[in-house]
Amino acid sequence: MILPPATIGVLGGGQLGRYFVLAAHKLGYRVLVLDPDKQSVAGQIADEHIIAAYDDVNALNYMATACSAVTTEFENIPADTLDYLAGHIPVRPSAAAVRICQNRSREKSFLQAHDIPHAASLNITGEQDILMSPASIYPGIIKLASSGYDGKGQQIVENKSEALAAFNQFNSQPCVLEKKLELDYEVSVVLARNEDGNTAFFPIAQNVHKHGILDVSVMPAPALPEHLRIEAEGIARLIAGKMDYIGTMAVEFFVAGGQLLVNEIAPRPHNSGHATIDACYTSQFEQQVRALCGLPLGDSRAHSSAIMINILGDHWYQGSDGQTKIPDWQALLSIPALKLHLYGKEEPRPGRKMGHFTILTEQSGNWDLMAANARQKLSA
Ligand code: ADP
Ligand code: MG
Repeated sequence: MILPPATIGVLGGGQLGRYFVLAAHKLGYRVLVLDPDKQSVAGQIADEHIIAAYDDVNALNYMATACSAVTTEFENIPADTLDYLAGHIPVRPSAAAVRICQNRSREKSFLQAHDIPHAASLNITGEQDILMSPASIYPGIIKLASSGYDGKGQQIVENKSEALAAFNQFNSQPCVLEKKLELDYEVSVVLARNEDGNTAFFPIAQNVHKHGILDVSVMPAPALPEHLRIEAEGIARLIAGKMDYIGTMAVEFFVAGGQLLVNEIAPRPHNSGHATIDACYTSQFEQQVRALCGLPLGDSRAHSSAIMINILGDHWYQGSDGQTKIPDWQALLSIPALKLHLYGKEEPRPGRKMGHFTILTEQSGNWDLMAANARQKLSA
């Protein structure tokens, strides 16, 4: 067991890392962040920020000496880096788990191997794979096998020739081609698992995406019937168990034709788990700290229902003249049960996650109205 005031490390320094730092600090740990970005928002508040590439051996050696254990907040950390660190200190989740989640075709093979339902998909490594693809996979979505996020590196394709064009546009890098489903809705299971195999589930969130980016997340999921909740938790438990997973994990699901299908697995806390900061006894980030340090997991139940809404950089560009303007924080904060979180990013680019807010409520049934009302205040 690693007890405070030990120093723990995190690879990656975005907002997920920032909340990890905050949760670790609350418990009395010191935190070292490794992120090549000088402006890292986790690095800003960490005890130490190492500005170096994720495969910089000197930086990794230093991290291994300075930290008692290391976790990751960004799934594209090279798995070799995790393997290297694991030769010196505990690394949780393991390189093996992260390696599966950071590559869509390995992820699909994993789901296949364990008979876990998912959308029909094909690995694409050359044009030949597209020429041989069955008509039943169209309309489809071609997705880069690695390094895509927030809907980036994805293209909807209606037929083989569009698939070929998209594959060429992606410079013939390995892809998966997936059937495009008619979704009823989407949900995610966020869980934490410790080294004893104990698993704590947060209430399942229902997620609405806009242009491939999470927009609104409602917890607990209003549309999800009890039998699907139980099934989704069972699938997520199976995935975490098969990976011997230690840490916080998210499993994104599609619900299509009343059936659950796994979309993807995140080996880290998840945007759809942000409501746990304000609505649960223990947040997804505190669970990550606890699992990393070998502490007992906390109570992950919610004391309130919650509606979480992302604030993208687009909100800074809504002036009719195209000029930048500042969102109306004062109007937004006039909603008393609203919790505003801004990440400390300097540059508000369109599509960039700048912050989020969570509305705590007992009536999440009318979440769409509450979300619309809050959004209107934001850009009043
Ligand atoms: P990212 O890594 O960017 O989150 P996802 O694969 O989760 O990529 O895709 C982002 C969103 O695009 C999903 O949450 C969903 O709304 C939509 N989407 C992705 N794949 C499919 C599919 N096969 N059928 C229908 N919608 C999809
Ligand atoms: Mg996703």
